[in-house]
Amino acid sequence: MARYTGASCRACRRENLKLFLKGDRCYSDKCSFERRSYSPGQHGQNRFRKVSDYAVQLREKQKVKHMYGMLEKQFRRYFHMADQAKGVTGENLLIMLERRLDNTVYRLGFASSRDQARQLIRHNHFTVNGKKINIPSYFVCEGDVISLKEKSRSNEMIKDNLEGAARRGVPSWIELDQKNFQGTVKAMPNREEITLPIHEQLIVELYSK
Ligand code: SF4
Repeated sequence: MARYTGASCRACRRENLKLFLKGDRCYSDKCSFERRSYSPGQHGQNRFRKVSDYAVQLREKQKVKHMYGMLEKQFRRYFHMADQAKGVTGENLLIMLERRLDNTVYRLGFASSRDQARQLIRHNHFTVNGKKINIPSYFVCEGDVISLKEKSRSNEMIKDNLEGAARRGVPSWIELDQKNFQGTVKAMPNREEITLPIHEQLIVELYSK
């Protein structure tokens, strides 16, 4: 599946927010945003640029796309599905993004970034309810059990990730059983549990034009 391959740190500087796209590096002093927290490009340090409503909405959408590692076509398709579903469109969209298997694996702490989670899933390291699932966009449901395969449990990188994940914390809608390398979806996520700084209404306004 296609994915964003541009410079991750540049995206953080563009969105003026740490998006945590590079795993452990994001928590170290190598983080580019910590060193240069102004926008990239020739006019990046110009603090008095006028910003239109459209630009604000566009940046919000780009920010969320970068966070979850999605491309425009797929993101727009999610928005359409969120719009068709019952409830508040913006909230539906965020909940769908959270329910992706790559996000769930990342949230459980098996991977240090969503990008790494995608790679691990594609390389068949996980099962869901005992079945092999290698599709990062798979939507997890209440009661699903995500397990690291037996043969992957000695993988040092994954073990390190699990140790390091304590600083991020696991959201309340999932539960990690670190001893058995398993995670359980206790309930569907709700908006209050998605604590990322996202103003989803701006995305709804952008796509509703
Ligand atoms: Fe963003 Fe991480 Fe790069 Fe820092 S290291 S700029 S948080 S992707």
